[in-house]
Amino acid sequence: MERSAIVIGAGLAGLTAADRLVAASWDVTVLEARDRVGGRTWSDRAANGARIERGAEWVEEAQHELIALCARFGIELVRAGMSYHDRRPIGGPPVPQEAIVRGRAAVRDLLAELGDGAADLSVADALARLDVTDGVRTAFRARIECTAGTPATGLAATHLSMLAEAPDDADSLRIGAGSDAPARALAEHLGARVRLGEPVTALDIDPDGVRCTTAVGTYAAARIVLAVPLALLGDAPFADALPAPVRDAAAGFGVAQAAKLFVPLTGDVDPQAHLDAHRDYWVWTANEGDAGLRPILAGFAGSMPMLERLEVDAGPATWVERIGEMLPDLPLDLAAAGVQTWHDDPYARGVYSCVPPGSRPDGDALRRAHGPLVLAGEHTDDVWSGYMEGAIRSGVRAAHLVDPALPPPGPAAH
Ligand SMILES: Cc1cc2nc3c(=O)[nH]c(=O)nc-3n(C[C@H](O)[C@H](O)[C@H](O)COP(=O)(O)OP(=O)(O)OC[C@H]3O[C@@H](n4cnc5c(N)ncnc54)[C@H](O)[C@@H]3O)c2cc1C
Repeated sequence: MERSAIVIGAGLAGLTAADRLVAASWDVTVLEARDRVGGRTWSDRAANGARIERGAEWVEEAQHELIALCARFGIELVRAGMSYHDRRPIGGPPVPQEAIVRGRAAVRDLLAELGDGAADLSVADALARLDVTDGVRTAFRARIECTAGTPATGLAATHLSMLAEAPDDADSLRIGAGSDAPARALAEHLGARVRLGEPVTALDIDPDGVRCTTAVGTYAAARIVLAVPLALLGDAPFADALPAPVRDAAAGFGVAQAAKLFVPLTGDVDPQAHLDAHRDYWVWTANEGDAGLRPILAGFAGSMPMLERLEVDAGPATWVERIGEMLPDLPLDLAAAGVQTWHDDPYARGVYSCVPPGSRPDGDALRRAHGPLVLAGEHTDDVWSGYMEGAIRSGVRAAHLVDPALPPPGPAAH
């Protein structure tokens, strides 16, 4: 019992924590609600057999923990032949690339000027202060609302950093075997310690240890790592058992909403990325490294109001109709399109965390131990929240909190 731990959630965060603890000879049980591991990484196939990523897809060069995890299991990263950051605006007046590059510099200047105060201003208010053309401002707003899955009025201006940090040119990376390959590799390594189909329904946390109830049974351990998505900390069946500082901190964050689209390609096209500046979605075609084009047009639309406008709950029809109008020359099998939403997924309830203006959530409360309880998950990382990297770093931190002999995550920068 002394060196025993229960990990709730077999996403990258929970699996990383479990992996570290097992390496330090802890007796670990991972309880996962779904019948698969990987959580918000979920690779699948489209109607034409092409790989699709229902969740995470892009790997930034600075995602060092993720890249190291892939290297450990021999999982290859492949070049896309296009840049995740460079999306040609469509659906409005043309915006020259040089104007976008100049706009990014203006964003960097504005963030430097705002300093700590960026946390109290909304993205909408900050964009209004930028000295850029209307076309650039509209493209920036669409880019941020789409990626941060929240209207610009509901986002702290700190989210502008995603523009400021964007490299001006790059050839983006993806995980060739699918974004869920690292989670699957970790789970295979952990073996029977990972128990699928066991949603945790109740928690009993006291200073001497924890008891955890699932649909299948009850588990007891000295420590617990809670690695479920942010949205569940507020209203999961076990939320009442969480300490008030944890629930208060979680309530200070926002939950982003987004959907992904998959349309099989019926012919060869160049890798490319387009941002519909009036519908807050972007679409791309991309290579599979040297193997050439992955025969799929993928899309990502963000913010709940935009998902409602695109009527994603009714399927892909409205979204693909718009794409057919915007990009009529692409060889698309519109009838075979599919869409993935996350707001209606009971074990995610959104895509990732974000920060509303003025809320200044107490992230440190999510990064320290509360008796036997430790939290993990992308939302608990201070640098890479919202990314696979943040999930892995959080798992490393959680394992360190449980067993201080294990190392904490290293320094990180975007
Ligand atoms: C559409 C989309 C696109 C994204 N794009 C990118 C990208 O391009 N690049 C990038 O780096 N990141 C991206 N991300 C973010 C990335 O996927 C996440 O940050 C990361 O995977 C989160 O990992 P996690 O372990 O914190 O949470 P999760 O992966 O959500 O894992 C939590 C686990 O807890 C389980 N769980 C929930 N409730 C219970 C319960 N009651 N009992 C037991 N288990 C439970 C869940 O089923 C899940 O498996 C994207 C995410 C989405 C959704």
